[in-house]
Amino acid sequence: MKTEVLEDDPSEVETGIFCEKCNKWVNSFYTTQKDVDDTVYLLKASLQGIERNVKKKLLEELEAYKDWKMKKEVTEEGFALDGRAKNISGILITLKSNDISYEIEPPYPYEIPVYKKLWTEEVERLKAMNPGLNVTAEELNALK
Ligand SMILES: [Zn+2]
Repeated sequence: MKTEVLEDDPSEVETGIFCEKCNKWVNSFYTTQKDVDDTVYLLKASLQGIERNVKKKLLEELEAYKDWKMKKEVTEEGFALDGRAKNISGILITLKSNDISYEIEPPYPYEIPVYKKLWTEEVERLKAMNPGLNVTAEELNALK
């Protein structure tokens, strides 16, 4: 088995069976560095002071997570879990998208995309059109 970083895109790798004698791949495929990363990351975050809906979503996400390779401890106050990069990336997206601070060891080297809250832009638009409107994105997010 061999895994080699691609020269033209260091976030991608070629991995598979490589014959040293013939100096060629016998059977291989392309994937991302993150997917072949065997590092076990320890992720911790506090759930205190977090908006109720965000906390509910996060707890549901943690609850739904079934991976025998991942150990987790979840309480109302916070959580700690360990897992491989590809397994914890969803949780990291939720944390970062909701501005929840967390600790991760060793440092997570991959990009974490941030998804804006569903209603934020829509509320700005509605408020611009209706100056008397008294509603927040949080209230509307709670409705979905
Ligand atoms: Zn060979």
